[in-house]
Amino acid sequence: MAEVLVVGGGGREHALAWALAGSSEVTRVYVAPGNAGTVGPAGEGRAEMVRVPLAADDLEGLAGFAAERGVALTVVGPEAPLAAGLADRFAEAGLAVFGPRREAARIEASKAFAKALMDEAGVPTASWRAFEHPEAALRHLEATPAPWVVKASGLAAGKGVLVTGDYEEARAFVQGLFAGRFGAAGRRVVIEAYLEGPELSVFAVAAGERFVLLPPARDYKRIYEGGLGPNTGGMGAQSPVALAPGLLEEVGRTVIAPTLAALAARGTPYLGVLYAGLKLTPAGPKVLEFNARFGDPETQAVLPLLRTDLYRLLMDAVEGRPDATPLQHAGAALAVVLAAPGYPGPYPKGLPVEGLEQAAALPGVHVFHAGTERAEGRVVTAGGRVLAVVGRADTPEQARARVYAAVRRVRFEGMHYRRDIGTEVVG
Ligand code: AMP
Repeated sequence: MAEVLVVGGGGREHALAWALAGSSEVTRVYVAPGNAGTVGPAGEGRAEMVRVPLAADDLEGLAGFAAERGVALTVVGPEAPLAAGLADRFAEAGLAVFGPRREAARIEASKAFAKALMDEAGVPTASWRAFEHPEAALRHLEATPAPWVVKASGLAAGKGVLVTGDYEEARAFVQGLFAGRFGAAGRRVVIEAYLEGPELSVFAVAAGERFVLLPPARDYKRIYEGGLGPNTGGMGAQSPVALAPGLLEEVGRTVIAPTLAALAARGTPYLGVLYAGLKLTPAGPKVLEFNARFGDPETQAVLPLLRTDLYRLLMDAVEGRPDATPLQHAGAALAVVLAAPGYPGPYPKGLPVEGLEQAAALPGVHVFHAGTERAEGRVVTAGGRVLAVVGRADTPEQARARVYAAVRRVRFEGMHYRRDIGTEVVG
């Protein structure tokens, strides 16, 4: 029997902790730093969840904690600790961790690295160029047709990308990046060709060159219904996604397998979730970006659909044999993010949240906490994305009815969410 540690404090980490707590092999799930949802006694076949007051970037503290408690497996949610070398630190200490080492995590931390790797591996992606000087970047912009896609090469919390048909806006964004708008993340700028088509998120649980795929998902990134307004961390997700027969296997064969092979050939084999953000173009699936971890909020929709024991699945990967195809429940799951007033701009904190128990008591519903804390015995908001409410049912339509019935039971001042999650709307 095992104790596990989940690193992070968002909705993704609550979903991971919940799924791990449902494993027959797990007796306790620690979550560092967690949120108001990642606590609770054992019961109904689930292990207890315990918050640990350690920040996700406190590598020494986390390694010390895992060693002292004899934690059997650490699962890392966010990208920043991976890019900072959490997996390297844990490996040095002989601790099992699910997440790539720093060198392999560059696939997310550096878009220029990811693009070069894709070219090397023959993985389909938008044609691109990287720039280190504003003059050359602006010349390139001028010489290419609209729409323009401009990206900060480094980590910018999902905000370092502009897609626009407005030349002046593209120009100002390039100049802003070089002027330090995202600090070091924007010191290199990638400009790439615009790709047409619906988006798809594919998650591979990978170890070296071996991998298994989880149910695919789509996310809804914009703040407003209809795919309008600024980008956010993600306002909702659906899983699975209806795909042409063989398409998921094609992504495995043309994207995941060659990428893992190229990383292994460089001497930096990958362990963790390799998340491919794709565009399904008329010429086949092409990669928009890779992430080195589970998606948020896609994870909140994907994990309730997983019938396979998550601890066993991840442990098999850590032990180098991720080969049992994960079993899925039939049907679909939808995650709807409830956001604080003002999000994705500045937002207040400390707003009392009501109706959580009533929502969670509905059949097929899970309420995953994201930016929440406990204050004076009640749950209050503590972030921009406050909760992800998930509905699972036999059909996407039923999942939609379930999730929105649950959402209507939750209240906090200024709460907002998209009402079109699970529909065909793009973005
Ligand atoms: P990224 O962080 O690279 O995934 O970019 C964020 C979002 O920008 C993506 O989910 C797409 O909606 C959009 N995007 C990025 N690159 C392209 C591209 N080459 N063509 C069209 N849209 C893109």
